[in-house]
Amino acid sequence: MAKIKSVRGMNDIPPEQTLYWRYAEEIISSTFSSYGYQEIRFPIVESTELFHRSNQASDMVSKEMYTFEDKGGDSLSLRPEGTASCVRACIENNLLRVDTPRLWYNGPMFRYERPQKGRSRQFHQSSVEVFGVEGSEIDAEIIRLSSRLWKRLGIEDKVYLEINSIGNEDTRLRYTEDLLKFFEPLKGQLDDDILKKLNDNPLRVLDSKSEKIQSLLEGAPKISDYLDEDSETHFKKLIKILDLLGISYDVNTKLVRGLDYYNKTVFEWKTNSLGSQDTVCAGGRYDNLIEELGAKPCPAIGFSIGMERLILLIKETIDNKYLQNQSIDCFFVCFGEKSILQAMMYAEQIRDRIPSLNLKVNLGSESAGSQFKKADKSGARFALILGDSELDDRVVSCKDLREKSEQETMDLESLINKIENTFIKER
Ligand code: ATP
Ligand code: MG
Repeated sequence: MAKIKSVRGMNDIPPEQTLYWRYAEEIISSTFSSYGYQEIRFPIVESTELFHRSNQASDMVSKEMYTFEDKGGDSLSLRPEGTASCVRACIENNLLRVDTPRLWYNGPMFRYERPQKGRSRQFHQSSVEVFGVEGSEIDAEIIRLSSRLWKRLGIEDKVYLEINSIGNEDTRLRYTEDLLKFFEPLKGQLDDDILKKLNDNPLRVLDSKSEKIQSLLEGAPKISDYLDEDSETHFKKLIKILDLLGISYDVNTKLVRGLDYYNKTVFEWKTNSLGSQDTVCAGGRYDNLIEELGAKPCPAIGFSIGMERLILLIKETIDNKYLQNQSIDCFFVCFGEKSILQAMMYAEQIRDRIPSLNLKVNLGSESAGSQFKKADKSGARFALILGDSELDDRVVSCKDLREKSEQETMDLESLINKIENTFIKER
């Protein structure tokens, strides 16, 4: 029978990879907490209408959504991003009335796109969303938060920041009109893809990857010349605060966002290490979305980190041997059924006393040699050995796999003390 495979673009994350994910997720959540952000969770499936109402013109909603009818005939979609769901959840749970929530979440998102390096159909985002703060200070805070994150993850040299302001709705209407006028006489030189973009979502032409389009754009009008006064003041103040905080950035007047609801500040952290999937984190303001989704107007801003791309960057800096070594502390080497059962009982007693210890009992019947190889590969510091003589004498032998020293034999109590002294001191 043919083997069943995973769905195209939906990838497994095997154990040697989850080490990286855990490492990143722990640093990310603790950094979010260190700025007073609270975690929120919401479903992976929403009413299709939620995404249609928030984002109609985007490719993401019009072409990339996984939409299906459930057995009751309702149209549901797998979430292609988290912002709309987060806003829905905040409205539904009355979170916007009380305070100015600063929230974070992470989890899988789904988009039907062409899978390639850094692009998959199920991918993961870690995001923050902040509601109710109008001033540029919050824009600066989330940018500073993200830059601290890169530093804590050890990838600060691999990413750079681009910022822009896309003004208000009127800015974009006037600008789009002039951009279309600019391209009108050039239409003969444009391929179908760009012509379609010009028709569907003209601002997206600005971040086209085509060199030809980029060189044509040299002569195009710039959105910065179309900003309303409020957006301009907001952007100038953001720049002032970023300077004050010592954050380097480039103003990229061609930076826009793929989603309809953004306004004022937009920003991206990009990298030169990943080829064309070069945006690791993208964010911006969306001051009108909440009203659009039926609640009282409320300013808002957020960003999303593409976790797959982040992990690719982290892998370039950290050897997973280092992470692997942290995973197992002690490895029980056993010989035969009696030895295995005794080891399991000892292991439980050790875990009772040292809950933070990672202790693995080998349950197979391999030779001593191959068990020691496994123990070594697991990264364990100590191999605990339970042969016939140890069983008879009610003791355990302990071999240090990392430092040259004599193998020691001792009773369980002394073993627990030894392990405690070693690992508690090290941690
Ligand atoms: P792109 O231009 O790369 O398609 P986007 O504008 O569609 O990005 P956003 O909706 O802003 O992306 O999502 C935020 C981040 O999530 C992106 O910067 C990227 O890191 C990540 N991301 C988006 N789509 C995917 C995908 N299909 N696979 C992996 N990561 C993704
Ligand atoms: Mg996209």
